[in-house]
Amino acid sequence: LMHLTRKLIEIRSMLLSIDQSDALKLPSIVVIGSQSSGKSSVLEAIVGHEFLPKGNNMVTRRPIELTLIHTPATNGETPVEYGEFPGLGLGKITNFADIQRTLTDLNLAVPASDAVSTEPIDLRIHSPNVPDLTLIDLPGYVQISSLDQPETLKEKIAALCDKYIREPNIILAVCAADVDLANSPALRASRKVDPLGLRTIGVITKMDLVPPEQGAGILAGNRYPLHLGYVGVVAKSSGKKGKKDSMALVAQRGENDYFGSHRDVFGASTSLMVGTDTLRKRLMEVLESSMASSLHGITNAVQLELEEATYQFKVQYNDRRITAESYVAETMDALKLRFKEFTQQFRRPVIRAKLKGMLDDKVMDVLEQLYWLDKRAPELGTIAADPKLKPEDVEPYWRHKLEAASSLLTKSGVGRDSTLLVADGLRALIDSIAAGEPFTFHPRASERLIQFSHMILRDRIGVTSDQVENCIKPFKYEVEVEPREWEQGRERAIELFEKEVGMCETKLQDIRKKVGGSRRLGGLIGYVKTLEEKEKEKKMKRLENLESDESAEPEPTPESYRYPPAQIIDARHAMLYSDRLSILKLRLAALKSKRCRAGPQSDVLCPEAFLNVVADKLAYTSAMFINIELLEQFFYQFPREIDSRLLYDLDRSEIVQFARENPVVRRHLDLQERKDKLEEVMKQLNSLSTLRADPQPAPRRQ
Ligand code: GDP
Repeated sequence: LMHLTRKLIEIRSMLLSIDQSDALKLPSIVVIGSQSSGKSSVLEAIVGHEFLPKGNNMVTRRPIELTLIHTPATNGETPVEYGEFPGLGLGKITNFADIQRTLTDLNLAVPASDAVSTEPIDLRIHSPNVPDLTLIDLPGYVQISSLDQPETLKEKIAALCDKYIREPNIILAVCAADVDLANSPALRASRKVDPLGLRTIGVITKMDLVPPEQGAGILAGNRYPLHLGYVGVVAKSSGKKGKKDSMALVAQRGENDYFGSHRDVFGASTSLMVGTDTLRKRLMEVLESSMASSLHGITNAVQLELEEATYQFKVQYNDRRITAESYVAETMDALKLRFKEFTQQFRRPVIRAKLKGMLDDKVMDVLEQLYWLDKRAPELGTIAADPKLKPEDVEPYWRHKLEAASSLLTKSGVGRDSTLLVADGLRALIDSIAAGEPFTFHPRASERLIQFSHMILRDRIGVTSDQVENCIKPFKYEVEVEPREWEQGRERAIELFEKEVGMCETKLQDIRKKVGGSRRLGGLIGYVKTLEEKEKEKKMKRLENLESDESAEPEPTPESYRYPPAQIIDARHAMLYSDRLSILKLRLAALKSKRCRAGPQSDVLCPEAFLNVVADKLAYTSAMFINIELLEQFFYQFPREIDSRLLYDLDRSEIVQFARENPVVRRHLDLQERKDKLEEVMKQLNSLSTLRADPQPAPRRQ
């Protein structure tokens, strides 16, 4: 039968890990008693070691789930005694002083303001000197809270004890012999839930502190009868602790001495239960029979739970099993695949077109800066239209302009700008992947993903932009244009200009609509023009006045109130757009002229076509080197970094943690685990009942 208790203790801890509800609970022994009743001394006597926290300031603040595991000697070798805290991962602790220290630390970690915590500490002790038992040590009842303890402490402890002394647990009510049992909070609490004492064992400590006859009277239990009876102990060592003697031995000897010298009162004939050994045996018997009688009920309960879990697993997941590892691997594969799909956006023609777009904008800026604001710009149109004029005859002024424009473009920091443009694109791509599912569930992984990809980019940006800058260097000195390139450049410039014309026209139209029609806009523009004229006159006058040293008279300008200021601003914009439109149209005509179509020799006359060719060459070269130095490198490194920084970095517990961050996966894993554990428990329970139900072997026929 010993085998049964042990198995059931194992099953009990498995059930505890499945859920904490009362339905799936096998009994344990719960130790309650008031402070200083000798609770710790009794537990230590049972274990044979001093290991519980000591101190006068309420040191037990959390329940201690103490599982004792008897390890029998094998082949005459005594196994080592050790304790372990399964929840802490500290390994086997053979020094009981270390166990004591750990327990003290764990208890003191509960803030003094909370005083008690309901979260149990799991401690297992393996020893040849302990029986198979589970005991739960609870904080001792306090009578009066001291000043530094919260007011509610008394109630908190009582509530915690109430939670544990419920069925099916066995109550070990510890009372000191020198205190009237009527005052024992332990007995009072147990009587409330177990009035007949069917599952309460009384332990009377400090038997040595009262006259033997009085002690025997208490143990007889006539005043407060308990079905399971009282056991009297002397748990404190009376002798001095010798160097070689273990504390247990000394205590045992003290107890034996005491009961031995009062054999007349406590002897075998009296049927009183005394001594730690007796207590141990009594606890084993009681726990065993209590467990045995719980067996049937618990088997049914587990069966029901298992059926429910199996059904749910079938219905919700169609029996599909997953592991945290498989989830992590799938997530990473999906990430790589997603990335690969996205990289299509970074193929060379796409990049080249993007860079060209950026450079087109630059070309527009250069043109505006160098040509459109030039007062001689119309001259360029007339030259282009004049068929007699040869490009060689064109004034050096315009030749010089073209060179300046080309160099503004080639020296505008194309290396840096184009590299950053592509790098920003990559960054935005990664950021969008990291912000999407399933990374919404994995904020830390998402952060790491962003971190390392940005780091790869940072590492490459400098090199790449230098490389690109280097490779476009020849264009800073000379750009040779083939006739075919010229024609393409011219066509692209026309396209671009037409687009720009369209844009300006819509803008103008918008403004026209906004101010209320073209007549109104015309009026506004006329008005703004006269305003500008007046401004000019005024300035001139002021200058004259300054010269003639006469103070200027401020002139009232009531007219400026004729239109709201916002509309005046609109009119100014409209003027800018229409100026631009007329230039664009002029230049479009030039670009389409015979002169421009003639070929690269007309470069001075058609700077737009020429600059477009330059921009195209820059885009082509930049795209090529950005591809080699940035994209290829990034596409190579990124999936590898996923493996090394997201995947291989994780240990088993981190993998589980990662998977459980996803609520869908967590629910799946939880149910699967619950089902597995219930199956395992069921298997163990079944093996127990066949063990018990084994029929006696039939007598052999003669
Ligand atoms: P707890 O607060 O209930 O855990 O009580 P302890 O086990 O710490 O004991 C309180 C005090 O009573 C300590 O000083 C113990 O040495 C003493 N004590 C415990 N058991 C006995 C006993 O059987 N006889 C005597 N004389 N003292 C004891």
